Amino acid sequence: MSNGSPATAKMSDPLKRLDLDGHEMPPSPAPSSPRTGGRRRYALATELVYTETKDQYGASSIPIYQSATFKQASAAGGTNDYDYTRSGNPTRTYLERHLAKIMNATRALAVGSGMGALDVITRLLRAGDEVITGDDLYGGTNRLLAYLSSNQGIVVHHVDTTNIDSVRPVISDKTTMVLLESPTNPLIKIIDIPSIARLVHEANDRALVVVDNTMLSPMLSNPLHLGADIVYESGTKYLSGHHDIMAGVIGVNDAAIGDKLYFTINATGCGLSPNDSFLLMRGIKTLAIRMEKQQTNAQKIAEFLESRGFRVRYPGLKSHPQYDLHWSMARGAGAVLSFETGDVSISERIVEATRLWGISVSFGCVNSLISMPCQMSHASIDPQTRKERQMPEDIIRLCVGIEDVNDLIDDLSRALVEAGSVAVTLDGFRATGSSSSAQQSTAIDSDGGV
Ligand SMILES: *Cc1c(COP(=O)(O)O)cnc(C)c1O
Repeated sequence: MSNGSPATAKMSDPLKRLDLDGHEMPPSPAPSSPRTGGRRRYALATELVYTETKDQYGASSIPIYQSATFKQASAAGGTNDYDYTRSGNPTRTYLERHLAKIMNATRALAVGSGMGALDVITRLLRAGDEVITGDDLYGGTNRLLAYLSSNQGIVVHHVDTTNIDSVRPVISDKTTMVLLESPTNPLIKIIDIPSIARLVHEANDRALVVVDNTMLSPMLSNPLHLGADIVYESGTKYLSGHHDIMAGVIGVNDAAIGDKLYFTINATGCGLSPNDSFLLMRGIKTLAIRMEKQQTNAQKIAEFLESRGFRVRYPGLKSHPQYDLHWSMARGAGAVLSFETGDVSISERIVEATRLWGISVSFGCVNSLISMPCQMSHASIDPQTRKERQMPEDIIRLCVGIEDVNDLIDDLSRALVEAGSVAVTLDGFRATGSSSSAQQSTAIDSDGGV
């Protein structure tokens, strides 16, 4: 090996090049989120993976600044960008800047879970304030709102937000927040976010429209463009994509709202940890490719179930009653769908007979999941309320992953037959349950197989 070239001469004395004392560290970004950056220049799929860092070693992924405190330059403190990780951490800031860019927000904030994000947002409310929200909400959202109404003097109106005429009568000058989720799950109802936002803002310009975008992710929808003041979502789902962390993210365009939310995060200490910020950042880079595959699979599975006579709820199906509304707001149908069998015990047997489909709450993971929402994710809503909200007890939710779609369909087919929910015929098989549309259907598929 020659020692002649300048490159190898350098290599032979690596310690000379290392900044062992850390004095040459680049200046840290400003605590918590961007002030300047955030504007997208490329298509979303590109922006998801494209990052700019001024790392001293040119690291292609952001280092984990696993440090609670940061040394200050003088006794007076306050001269460095960071002092304490509850208030700000370089890894979290880096993630927040990236999030702001892909959420089309001027400021993004990252906290410990999706419910943590909603907690931060609802701390903008004061006793006597009124919240208008849907009647088919995520179970945890329901629970937090119930707590606020029984302990904090917040008045919560649950109405059918799919119908703007049921929203109108509850709007008043006390309306401080309107909390929307679209599509809802498991009923997969679509909310007209722009129309409701317009209505609410016209009636009361102080009212904040807040959208839970967990079901679609920034890949498929930008609620801030649809009239929302605040968008939040669970980073536990599509953003991270692997069910290995909990996280929540919030995006805003109004600097004053951003400051208030940041105040709560700093005051309560719910900011996302450096390690989880790193993992969420890594997950986000594959969001586009995961989501594309997941929704392509979901579409095929929805079509398969519908062709076998089940009542399927999925915004990718033309039979969805709000198909046009959904596509006026979103770039895709997502990867969560639900279907009914007409019988709770048949549904239970189907769920238990699948092998590839893991029985689990949650969605957005690379592997496919199956669940019965009334007994799992939505069990915190009491049976009476579930009935009032017309939630079928037999409903099965499918959260589709990135597996080979034929394997997923084969596994589901086998489970349907084992559970007795389909009748095997010479030509294929069809749903037998009472709530399915099998009875009305005369055509029998010839391509069906078990
Ligand atoms: C999972 C979920 C949440 C809560 O997020 P966590 O990260 O579990 O706290 C909120 N809204 C929706 C629609 C969700 O699916």
